[in-house]
Amino acid sequence: MGKKFLLTAAILGCVLLAAGGMLRMTGGEIVTENKQSMQGALAGVRVCIDPGHGGYDGGAVGRDSGVKEKAVNLAWAKTLKAALEKEGAQVTLTRSEDVALAEEGKERKRRDLQERVDRAQNADIFLSLHMNEYPDRSQSGPQVFYTEGNEKGRLLAGALQESMNEALSPVRPRSAHKGDYYVLRHQQNACVLIECGFLSNEKEEALLMDAAYRERAAESILRGVAQYLRLRENLANGA
Ligand SMILES: [Zn+2]
Repeated sequence: MGKKFLLTAAILGCVLLAAGGMLRMTGGEIVTENKQSMQGALAGVRVCIDPGHGGYDGGAVGRDSGVKEKAVNLAWAKTLKAALEKEGAQVTLTRSEDVALAEEGKERKRRDLQERVDRAQNADIFLSLHMNEYPDRSQSGPQVFYTEGNEKGRLLAGALQESMNEALSPVRPRSAHKGDYYVLRHQQNACVLIECGFLSNEKEEALLMDAAYRERAAESILRGVAQYLRLRENLANGA
C-alpha cells in the first residue's frame, strides 16, 4: 500500500514537472531555451549567398544532363538560405532569379561581379556558390577557395572544407585553396567561393541535382560557418 502511494506520488510529480516545463516554454522563454541547445548558433550573423552566373551567363554545363550551372547554383543557394535562417542568420541572396546582374553593354561580366560585391556590402560572411567542370571526368569533390591576404576568408574556407569533406565523403577529399576571384578580391569580410562539385563527373552531376544531397551539403556548410564563428571567438579571446 505504502509503495503504491509513493509510486503514484512520483508519477504525479513527474507529470507536474513536465507540465511546469511546458508552461515555461509557452511563457515566452522559448528563445532562451533554444539558445541553450543547438539552435540559434548563427543568431544575428549577416550572410550573403551569391549563386554564381545567371541570365545570359549559364556557367558550366552538366556533361550528361545538360543542366546549366546557374540553375544548380540558385537551387543550392535557396536550400542553404533556409538552413542558415533556421539557425538565426540574416541571409540575403545576390540574385533570387535567373538573371545576370548586368545583362548588356560593355564589360557586362565585370559589372555583374561588381554588383555582387556591392550587394554583399553589409554582410559578415559571403558565400559564392559554383559548380565545377573539368575535361577529365574523374575529377570530383567540393573545394573551397579564399583570397590571399584575407585571414577571415582563409579561416572560413578551412572550416567549410573540413565540414563538407566529412559530410559528403568525396572520393578524393580536397583542401581549401587560394583562388584569384573578383568577388573575393574586392571584399574585406569573411568571403569564400565554394565549388560544390563537378558537373563533368558522372556520379557527382547526378548528386549535385539531388535534393537530399543538397540538403546534406547545406547542413555541412551551416556547421562549417558555426565552426568558423567559434574559431573567431577563440582567437578574439586569445585562446
Ligand atoms: Zn561558376
